[in-house]
Amino acid sequence: MADPGVQASIHKNLKTTLPRIDNYINSTRFSSVNLKGRLYADTRPVSLSHWAVPGGEGAWQSWTFEEVMQQNFLPTSVGESFGPTWTTHWFKVEYEIPEEWVGHEVRFRWATGSEASVWTTDGKLLQGLSTGTGHQMRPDYVITRSYEGGAGNQVFYVEMAANRLFGAGDGDDLTPPNPNKYYTLTRAEISKFDTQVYKLIRDLEVLHQLADVLQNDPRGYQALYTANQMVNSIIAKDESGASQLADRHFAKGNGARAHTLSAIGNCHIDSAWLWPYSETKRKVGRSYASQVRLMEDYPELVFVASQAQQWAWCKQYYPDLFERVKMQVQAGKFLPVGGTWVEMDGNIPSGESFIRQFLHGQRFYQQELGVTCKEFWLPDTFGYSAQIPAMMRHMDLSRFLTQKLSWSMVNKFPHHNFTWEGIDGSTVLAHFPPGDSYNMNTTVEEAVRTVSNLEDKGRVSTSAFLFGYGDGGGGPTQDMLERARRLKDTDGCPKMNIVTPDVLFSTLENEQHNMCRWVGELYLELHNGTYTSQADMKRLCRSAEFHLRDAEFLLSTASASLGVAASALLQASLESLDSAWKKVLLNQFHDVLPGSGIGIIYPEATRYYEEAIAAAMGVWHDSADALFGAFEYKDFLSLWLSVSGFWSLEVWSGGEQTWTAFNTLQWAREEVVAAQTRSGGEEERSAGYVLVQAPPLGYAVLEGVSPTSPVSLTETDGLFVLDNGLLRAEINAYGQVVSLVTAGDYRDVFRKEDGSQLAGNQLVLFDDEPLVFDAWDVMDYHLETPVVLNQEGSGRSVSPVTVVEAGPLLARLRWSVDISSDSTLTQDIELRASTPYLIFSTVVDWQEDRKILKVLFDHNVMARNASFDIQFGHLERPTHMNTSWDSARYEVCGHKWADVSEPNWGFAVLNDSKYGWMARGNHLTLSLLKAPKSPDDTCDMGSHEFKYALMPHVGTVNEAGVARRAYEFNNPLRLLQLPTATTSTQPSWSAMTVEGEGAVLHAIKPAEDGSGEVVLRLFECHGSKSKVKLHTSLPITDVHNCNGMEVKGSQAAFSKEGEETTISLSLSPFSIIALRLSF
Ligand SMILES: [Zn+2]
Repeated sequence: MADPGVQASIHKNLKTTLPRIDNYINSTRFSSVNLKGRLYADTRPVSLSHWAVPGGEGAWQSWTFEEVMQQNFLPTSVGESFGPTWTTHWFKVEYEIPEEWVGHEVRFRWATGSEASVWTTDGKLLQGLSTGTGHQMRPDYVITRSYEGGAGNQVFYVEMAANRLFGAGDGDDLTPPNPNKYYTLTRAEISKFDTQVYKLIRDLEVLHQLADVLQNDPRGYQALYTANQMVNSIIAKDESGASQLADRHFAKGNGARAHTLSAIGNCHIDSAWLWPYSETKRKVGRSYASQVRLMEDYPELVFVASQAQQWAWCKQYYPDLFERVKMQVQAGKFLPVGGTWVEMDGNIPSGESFIRQFLHGQRFYQQELGVTCKEFWLPDTFGYSAQIPAMMRHMDLSRFLTQKLSWSMVNKFPHHNFTWEGIDGSTVLAHFPPGDSYNMNTTVEEAVRTVSNLEDKGRVSTSAFLFGYGDGGGGPTQDMLERARRLKDTDGCPKMNIVTPDVLFSTLENEQHNMCRWVGELYLELHNGTYTSQADMKRLCRSAEFHLRDAEFLLSTASASLGVAASALLQASLESLDSAWKKVLLNQFHDVLPGSGIGIIYPEATRYYEEAIAAAMGVWHDSADALFGAFEYKDFLSLWLSVSGFWSLEVWSGGEQTWTAFNTLQWAREEVVAAQTRSGGEEERSAGYVLVQAPPLGYAVLEGVSPTSPVSLTETDGLFVLDNGLLRAEINAYGQVVSLVTAGDYRDVFRKEDGSQLAGNQLVLFDDEPLVFDAWDVMDYHLETPVVLNQEGSGRSVSPVTVVEAGPLLARLRWSVDISSDSTLTQDIELRASTPYLIFSTVVDWQEDRKILKVLFDHNVMARNASFDIQFGHLERPTHMNTSWDSARYEVCGHKWADVSEPNWGFAVLNDSKYGWMARGNHLTLSLLKAPKSPDDTCDMGSHEFKYALMPHVGTVNEAGVARRAYEFNNPLRLLQLPTATTSTQPSWSAMTVEGEGAVLHAIKPAEDGSGEVVLRLFECHGSKSKVKLHTSLPITDVHNCNGMEVKGSQAAFSKEGEETTISLSLSPFSIIALRLSF
């Protein structure tokens, strides 16, 4: 029904009426006569003085506000420029409000095209400012809503960062930052602000949007005619009449069944991306302050902030602001979400890292805010592990939100609301905001699109609508909130209700019975180059994860064995590990670990990883010291960092110190280590190597043992044949593996039954020129450009295979190739006694431009699926391209291993630091290095060392123990020097053993609360129901089940016999469980 109070325009011509309205609120045209030109009704200049913080990136952190105030500020003015990139500039702003502005709103206006913030004279951060082309998001600060007069001369400060909201790229945001950018101050003034004009602008704006979006809908025309009549009224000087017309229009509500948008304010802040960590800390301050300020005027605003690390930065750098934020937390307006330390990469972190993201995130929120998040909030990451549902359930979470899957290149994901089931059968409620964005501006177009896009129409009544400037921070603005008020319940547009995430998810939970189910990973069909870019981030992450694991094992063992005697050690070590973990967790942020950040980020991230590893080593040695007595370890810092090869040591038994082999895994091991030893016979100590044994989770005195079968190396017709009694491999002069057979078996991985020849260890270079996102992507068409480097006719200079070591404990071949005129690769191929795989230790000097290097195994295994190691388990993916979904998964993420098997035979490839795989047809590839030029044009240039290994096997992947071999490959036996006084009475020692093979005891850690209790985390590793028994002589008094937050649940079954405690466990496929041990 038409509104009787509204006069339709006299012409039926949308083409004139619609633009007429736009012209009336346009900021670039007609401003001398339209509303926009009257918004800032009067202005006065301010007087300015300036002081630049010495130094560039992050230098601001060395100066307190009080110190800044003591500096010599020099006069400056509009028109001056400030820089270069990443520098910091302080401005003293002085002004006097004219008395004729009494009763009016007064604003401070500022424009530099960069980020900035407003401060009081006593150092309170009041609000962020952000201006620039395309970034006109917060160009003013409200000094007073109504000037009372008589204020006299007033002063505040502006801190300016010489970078834009999206960094400092030239032109395109994604180009590497220009280090010499300067920002010109184009406006600094106070202004009388016309609030009536502001209201009319917002009214006309929303009516115009309704008319524009609903062009085939009577309700669009009603909005059009209302707006047109408003313009006529304004021209007739009847502004209050115009205002009432709008109010009447927006009061016409929707029907009861209209879809509701659950509008939630947010500001996605990448913890580092096109800017370094130091700038993120300020983005947090600016964004949080702006939201607290906005809440004063808009009490309906609900704002959510993820990433406990960012809250911690707020507390550290802006303690006063943190207190103001906490008051809004208590009021239920400003809420932590997500529960994690940062919004991490969703593919690469280990299972234990995922758990720690939640553990440290939730503990921070509980301790600082008294809040526990009820959802996992990860809007922006590059794919989602199939174990996320189980890991969430382990943390007592059942609600998941993301939107990034809408970026998939090929297939549109069929649901926005669904029950997501992981590889262990755990389920969570997953929601994707159907508007496919977390940067909504509260426009009619976005609101309507959200509902039209919704894949689950009729199944749910609400959808998340995440509004506020994001990626670079910012959050909701006054304009957004004004539009949201007008769209709260306006006929023709979905209802827009500002709610908390809890309200959204509670509604969806009531409707979950209508949702479909999705099983397995949420694969993003884009950004799959992030499994490879910035190789050091991946290498150091893997290394830190294992070092922390080992340190926690030995610390908890010391604490459990020694009780109160170890309490000082426990307390100090917990602090050290807490800080180390937080560095690792920060670096797992979804632009740092994936390698999609600017170059300036990575030296700092590298330092954090190295500090975390050093801290873990310190805890390891302190714990060993406490457990076994003082020992010499001065050489170990460098030894432990040598992760890529053997430790070259001269060791012997006898004297005051005795060398031991230390095993931090749950099964007994026999491995070759590099060490000269005076014990044993000639064969055991040949060529500087020794074969040693170590018990589960313990040590044994280093003693050489004879291998069951020594390694042999022979050369026949240019082929090098390596054999260790477990496998036999033939290597050609180019370093390719042309035959690989498990001992006693007849099937060859690289030679077909008809005698035709395949080859493994082909080093292949591909062109890698993505469409847009250089560091992020490796596009499908790169597969059309392979060049095998190590084969005849490659056009590359190859130094053919030579023999370096010839057994009997280790045989080693070496070859090299010029990848190009600028890059080289040298590789050692090793076979060790008692080791069922061939090791490829590779050194590359990498100087390429947009190339990707892979190792390819062209194999003879008939497998329709390949298996890939992921967090706490593994998954299968098809090796064919039957469907567009299969085809789009040409580059996938896997962790320590991938396996291609027939039902009872196959092979695996293990690695120490790589994550990008392809298993397609008869090809298995592992991506080694990438050479993107944006956003970091130095990415991965230079020297790299990495290892992978090739393991043929009979039986299934589980029967062959591939997962165990991959643990060993990543965590070689450690040599540890202990006092002979200890080793003479205790030549070997084992903290715990696990009976049964179906479970991996991944974490043995001290409880986070410092109680001295110990938490064990295990996962079922075969994908089948398993029973295992844990045996230990640690003085256990009680055992409880617990969750990932380490909260005790029911008592677990255990029995004691003498000193030994046995814990019996039944595990369901790929389940994750935790136990809490009391002593
Ligand atoms: Zn992001």
